[in-house]
Amino acid sequence: MSIFTKIITGEIPSYKIAENENFIAFLDINPNAKGHTLVVPKKEENKLFDLSRDAYKDLMDFSYTVAKALEKAVPCKRVGMSVIGLEVPHVHVHLIPLNKMADIQFAKKVKLTNEEFVALAQSIAAEF
Ligand code: 5GP
Repeated sequence: MSIFTKIITGEIPSYKIAENENFIAFLDINPNAKGHTLVVPKKEENKLFDLSRDAYKDLMDFSYTVAKALEKAVPCKRVGMSVIGLEVPHVHVHLIPLNKMADIQFAKKVKLTNEEFVALAQSIAAEF
């Protein structure tokens, strides 16, 4: 069972932003930039391109909705998108508010307090 499945089942906590029957979005715990969000299919699958075409399209559609909310809630030049999966083998889309090129680089991390995570998740969720 992946760490993201444990978040989906509520076994471990997350700063949740949105959820529907098939997807969940929550803040990345070790963000590249403030507002770095993960969009995850509830059905555990390892690789993005092992999803069915329909599941892929639905994931992109849900990510679109989350990105729109993120762009409204978090000041940035644009929201960037990335799919990697080398750390957690459960499909997830990274949505990252970008102000500079370094914000998309996974070597650069920002530290946030619990209160900042809670406030961020609430402000993004409020944009739905
Ligand atoms: P990737 O698999 O795409 O290389 O990266 C996995 C991402 O998941 C990383 O950005 C990492 O910070 C994030 N991550 C790993 N474990 C957890 C967790 O328990 N909770 C949350 N919210 N994010 C996590």
